[in-house]
Amino acid sequence: MRFDRQIQMPQIGEQGQQRLAEASVTVIGAGGIGSPALTYLACAGVGHIRVVDSEAVNEADLNRQFLYGAGALGKSKAHAACARLGADYPDLVFEPVAERITAQEAARLIGRPQVIVDCVDTIEARLAVNAYAMRAGLPLVEGGVAGFGGFAMAIDSASPCLECVMPPVKLKERESPVLGAAAGVIGSLEAIECVKILLGIGRPLYGKMLKYDGLRCRFTLIDLHINERCTQPHTGACDAAPARA
Ligand SMILES: [Zn+2]
Repeated sequence: MRFDRQIQMPQIGEQGQQRLAEASVTVIGAGGIGSPALTYLACAGVGHIRVVDSEAVNEADLNRQFLYGAGALGKSKAHAACARLGADYPDLVFEPVAERITAQEAARLIGRPQVIVDCVDTIEARLAVNAYAMRAGLPLVEGGVAGFGGFAMAIDSASPCLECVMPPVKLKERESPVLGAAAGVIGSLEAIECVKILLGIGRPLYGKMLKYDGLRCRFTLIDLHINERCTQPHTGACDAAPARA
């Protein structure tokens, strides 16, 4: 009954819901973007969600990181997020990993999920996640937020990757100002992209960047191209990625 409203959609149905129940996703970053992304992946019924975040909850997080209340101050975000979501969705498995993503540890910390959802806030961590996803042949949903807007994109081995679009795209640095609701938009977009990739439906944002400007009420879809100077292997479609629509 819980998932009835989405099972009614022909793109999902009973079969798609079962596929989501058996799916595994790793979400990196349980902050402003991670809170809505994790919440909506749980709402969709994704069966196994690993949450990677090394930080503890502090007071400046509470205006947008709605997985945490004042009672979570000082606690590990990975553990607090899993405890909160696990209480609401007892049939789903949430696995906390309270460690910092680095290039050296990415494989161990991320594992081999069907989709990686990146919600981190440093360029260094983004590039480490991007490099692991490309090397491992795993689809990656990427997103970032600053001020009243942000961006989302999807990456696989056949598409342009994050390294391809840097430096032309200026990514958010840690502690940059952000409106909580803008993080909500981007986290929600990332959850939708993840569900589409898991089910092999629609057109994921492979080779595209969707930019959102909340002040001007504007979504812009930008075509991306593989950069010949990119050091990542652009070998072909990911093993785990369903056929593109
Ligand atoms: Zn690349």
